[in-house]
Amino acid sequence: MTLQLFDTYEREVRTFQPLNGNTVGIYCCGPTVYNFAHIGNLRTYLFEDLLVRVLRANGFEVNHVVNITDVGHLVSDADTGEDKMELGTQRTGMTAWELADFYTRAFEKDLARLNVQTPSIWCKATDHIQEQIEFVQDLEAKGFTYKTSDGIYFDSRKLNSYGHLARLDIEGLQAGARVDQGERKFVTDFALWKFSPEGEQRQMEWDSPWGKGFPGWHIECSAMSAKYLGDYFDIHCGGEDHIPIHHTNEIAQTEASRGTRLANFWMHGYFLQLDDAKMSKSTGEFLTLDVLIERGFDPMVYRFFCLGGHYRSQMTFSWESLEAARTSLNRLYEAAFSWGEPGEPDQDTLDRFFGALNDDLGMPKAMAIVWELVKSDFADGVKKATIIRFDEILGLGIAEWSPEAVEVSEEVLELLKARETARVEKNWARADEIRDEITALGYVIEDTPEGAKVTRA
Ligand code: AMP
Ligand code: ZN
Repeated sequence: MTLQLFDTYEREVRTFQPLNGNTVGIYCCGPTVYNFAHIGNLRTYLFEDLLVRVLRANGFEVNHVVNITDVGHLVSDADTGEDKMELGTQRTGMTAWELADFYTRAFEKDLARLNVQTPSIWCKATDHIQEQIEFVQDLEAKGFTYKTSDGIYFDSRKLNSYGHLARLDIEGLQAGARVDQGERKFVTDFALWKFSPEGEQRQMEWDSPWGKGFPGWHIECSAMSAKYLGDYFDIHCGGEDHIPIHHTNEIAQTEASRGTRLANFWMHGYFLQLDDAKMSKSTGEFLTLDVLIERGFDPMVYRFFCLGGHYRSQMTFSWESLEAARTSLNRLYEAAFSWGEPGEPDQDTLDRFFGALNDDLGMPKAMAIVWELVKSDFADGVKKATIIRFDEILGLGIAEWSPEAVEVSEEVLELLKARETARVEKNWARADEIRDEITALGYVIEDTPEGAKVTRA
């Protein structure tokens, strides 16, 4: 079965074929590194990981690019308000550069713990200032920009197709505009380059043909995707919130400069909603993977929880549903463990599983086939070999699981956290001390790419 994917740009499911040979170029908008990722953000990266795994299962090479937004973007979508990175420095006392480095590493660690495959390329906005300046210069030369007292702006009315991705009602937006437009000429115009305020030294600022300043919110993605994947590549991803502004503006920049709509497929992960906790990064009160771990949940439980929903449906988080995911996942691990050594997989079951995934990443249907396998009367060796093939997509570490992998006490969790902090601070002596304390309690620590694993000695 050919791979079918929903494309937000065309608003339909289309047959996917790489544009060039067998290699798929895919760009995923990464985090703004001024705070920890919340579990909603992580749902989007889990959706992208599922997509990458399904592409690989189809035999494609995948060139997977993820950016790190380490330049301060403004809290408001209207290019006004405070700078997120500057707010982060006030909150933590770190410099903007330390802050970016700290939260980039925390993000990479979250992905590793969730068994998200490492992207082929990580790219940082601050490493690509020149490329962004050149992109803006090109837009300027082509007549798509204007200057105000605080920056260089994209003139969205110069581009007829502006807003197609989100099916924006441009005139309606302008009529209903309540936000302060400042000197912007039109409500959908956006900053390409912002000037450093007069007499103020920003922590992050660069020289440019327009004076000292910093890039606008969207230009890094157009500039870096062009550099690593070309002007027109296979798939661009992000969360659903990116449809009306960020991705709309990325397309506008690239269309105006290069004449392409940037990517052949535009794919969006729908939001995780919370019913009993807050989710906004800017309020500072939100759920992280660490909070789940502190409450005794293995990161694999969160991965399994997310696999339970289709990427194009919103999901609601609650502790009860996470608990239910844990119960199911343990049932799956225990069943697969009891099957012993793998034999030959059942081809028909594999075909149905991969067929469900090729139908626009139909994970709920694929998961139903997982449980069918568990209940089936195939020989244990067949079941084991089949589930191991499924796990190339599920990424739950089913073959490695064993009952000895224990649920650890609050005390050990606290120690593990303290050890992790010591390691982040490169305080190796303290980290070793804590390891000894954990050993004394009767556990063994093993450091794996997914983070520290604890087993009973
Ligand atoms: P940010 O760091 O805010 O740029 O967000 C990183 C990624 O998480 C983006 O792709 C967002 O679209 C996505 N995202 C933000 N909030 C949520 C949420 N509640 N559920 C799922 N994805 C989200
Ligand atoms: Zn982006």
